[in-house]
Amino acid sequence: MGRHAPYLREMGLVQWRHVSPVRVEPAGSSGVEVTAKAACSQEAANALSALADDAAACERCDLCRTRNQTVFGVGSPRARWLFVGEAPGAEEDKQGMPFVGRAGALLSAMLFSIGLSREDVYIANVLKCRPPNNRDPLGREVRECSPFLHQQISWVQPEIIVAMGRFAAQALLETDQSLGQLRGHSHKYKINELPLVVTYHPAYLLRSPSAKGKSWEDLTLAQSIVD
Ligand code: SF4
Repeated sequence: MGRHAPYLREMGLVQWRHVSPVRVEPAGSSGVEVTAKAACSQEAANALSALADDAAACERCDLCRTRNQTVFGVGSPRARWLFVGEAPGAEEDKQGMPFVGRAGALLSAMLFSIGLSREDVYIANVLKCRPPNNRDPLGREVRECSPFLHQQISWVQPEIIVAMGRFAAQALLETDQSLGQLRGHSHKYKINELPLVVTYHPAYLLRSPSAKGKSWEDLTLAQSIVD
């Protein structure tokens, strides 16, 4: 387990070992293909940056009145993995970054346990503005903000979406099924049929560490789909 032990202990998974990421380039990848990929990546980065500007100016729901700033998303513009949470909390609202603080540290540990870093993935929330006092998102806020998330997913074109927590899962799958019903199998994202796996939100795992083992099962399910 070696140097990865602290991360896996943070996950509550001392029996698991870190898995190195393996990226297999298709046979015969040419310089032209590599250049084309880089151009696509730059195009996606530019589009995401423009979308982030749109969100920063957005007044579609009342959360624009109480936010310090929008929290749009971070990570690789052409990541293979895209993680979606619920909404920014107080610290995210201050820093303008998703998943900072203790929940963010646990998410980093979860990524590390499957051989990924935050730079390898793309991380976003359903809502781009913080609900006051960290209350649950309202249905109309989710409806108004969802187009931003759908466009993020369309530009990143991940191989897998991981919905973290009930709100993210229900928003992405347009269902009112419980997290317990949605966990444990692969779904299809409704817009472009991308595979989607549901797991617990890291903030919930901090409150309920006994669920970390199940979140590991969810991540390994997602990994088996990507591999
Ligand atoms: S939460 Fe979304 S829809 Fe509402 S103001 Fe913020 S960016 Fe706009």
